[in-house]
Amino acid sequence: MPTWDVAVRALRPPRPVHDPWRPQGVTVELERGPGGEFTPSATVFLTGAECPFTCVFCDLWRYTIDGPTPAGALPAQLAAALDQLPALLREAGLDRCDQLKLYNASNFFDRHAVPEADLEPIARLAGGFRRVVVECHPRLVDERVRRFAGRLPGRLEVAMGLETAHPEALSRLGKQLTLEQFDRAAERLRADAVDLRVFVLVGVPFVPAAEQAKWVSQSVRHAARAGARSVALIPVRGGNGELERLRGLGEFEPPDLALLEECLAGGLQAAEGSVAVQVDPWDLGQVAAGCESCRDARVAAIREMNGTGVARRTVCGDCG
Ligand code: SF4
Ligand SMILES: [Zn+2]
Repeated sequence: MPTWDVAVRALRPPRPVHDPWRPQGVTVELERGPGGEFTPSATVFLTGAECPFTCVFCDLWRYTIDGPTPAGALPAQLAAALDQLPALLREAGLDRCDQLKLYNASNFFDRHAVPEADLEPIARLAGGFRRVVVECHPRLVDERVRRFAGRLPGRLEVAMGLETAHPEALSRLGKQLTLEQFDRAAERLRADAVDLRVFVLVGVPFVPAAEQAKWVSQSVRHAARAGARSVALIPVRGGNGELERLRGLGEFEPPDLALLEECLAGGLQAAEGSVAVQVDPWDLGQVAAGCESCRDARVAAIREMNGTGVARRTVCGDCG
């Protein structure tokens, strides 16, 4: 009988082959902050080693490589991405960029994913930004975070996946995380003057569809209490084999736009203006419509809520 992580990995389709010396992409956007301010922001999707955890909902392994990230590859990727930035900003009508999100589909403070020797050149390349955001599993938040923050002229923000505040679902996600461990990592960030961003799932496996919105609101409240500046809602995407297995067992239902809209509206209300709750814009195109009649209206409502921070709901004659 294989262990659960081996069983989950065995169901995956083959991993696409990536060049560890090239980033996966760069996007720019105006991101709403907790005070309602808009920050010109760039996201660089980096290529590197896979995360050692094996969450049942994860599809980030698709953007990773076999084995550790080669030393020097991430600074080279970041330099190439920053070369593209002026043209992307011009296209978007932005005259500057204040925030840099470095998303490596894994954990920034895992030595296999980000070699120790690369932290200094990455910090140098990121030195022109007022805020730098990296992602990391709460259990890998350690003294490296403070050291990296100390190398940056700007402010460091760490994005951690809470995923859900539903204790039982969280324990079954394969994340190997408890709410207490999450809270301890958040406390450590606060003590080190590092800001917190939180990922919360929409369409959490093991939570019935009718309870999804309630638990997203609970999760946003938990993130707010832990000191989050912002919460990104992540619609769970199928395709890793394990989610299809769970769907067959009735333990997972892919979220549609109506649920995402409801969760965003509920999350904004739960945050009571203290936390910027939004859906990352690149996630929207991958969410099932559910109902074709209201697809465009719901996408527009989600984009509007992302921009205003004010909850609203679409009424559809066909699906309600
Ligand atoms: S911790 Fe994040 S990157 Fe790692 S398996 Fe879970 S969702 Fe994927
Ligand atoms: Zn509809």
